Amino acid sequence: MKDNETLIQTGRHVTQFPADVSLCAGCSSCEIVCSLLHDGVVGPSYNRIFVERGTISMIHRIYACQHCVDHPCYHACARKDQAMCLDENGIVYINEEYCIGCKRCIKACVFDPPRINYVKSSDKSKRKAKKCDLCRTRPEGPACVEFCQVRCLGISDLPDERR
Ligand code: SF4
Ligand code: SF4
Repeated sequence: MKDNETLIQTGRHVTQFPADVSLCAGCSSCEIVCSLLHDGVVGPSYNRIFVERGTISMIHRIYACQHCVDHPCYHACARKDQAMCLDENGIVYINEEYCIGCKRCIKACVFDPPRINYVKSSDKSKRKAKKCDLCRTRPEGPACVEFCQVRCLGISDLPDERR
């Protein structure tokens, strides 16, 4: 955890409840549906939400973009407003088409691990950044929340100073 992590004011984001007793079954449904919906593929490296499995504790943690109110990743982007964008609802999202894969956003992410994935683009030509966009164009909302097998995912209230 980075030192300033608890001071970050986060926006509406996918959250896990309750994280500490872990209703999460570690089944990967959220990761799978995420990559399928965004990239049309199923592959662990394509998701924008990450399951950290506690193989001994059996407490599984979910990591996703917290849509920080001051969105440092957006400000750090070499192609701000083209690659890394901000919509009218405060959702920080990436237009992969314009991303040059410079990783500035990943370095700027205030969370550890960073909430941005870095994988081959759909045409396999180069690596690009991918992050949770709250399924902003999906009328039903985030698919990971909808398809969680144990219903341990939801959307946080606005704003939230916890993770
Ligand atoms: S990797 Fe892409 S989204 Fe991230 S800072 Fe560079 S251009 Fe912007
Ligand atoms: S990618 Fe990291 S810094 Fe950017 S909004 Fe998400 S959590 Fe915050």
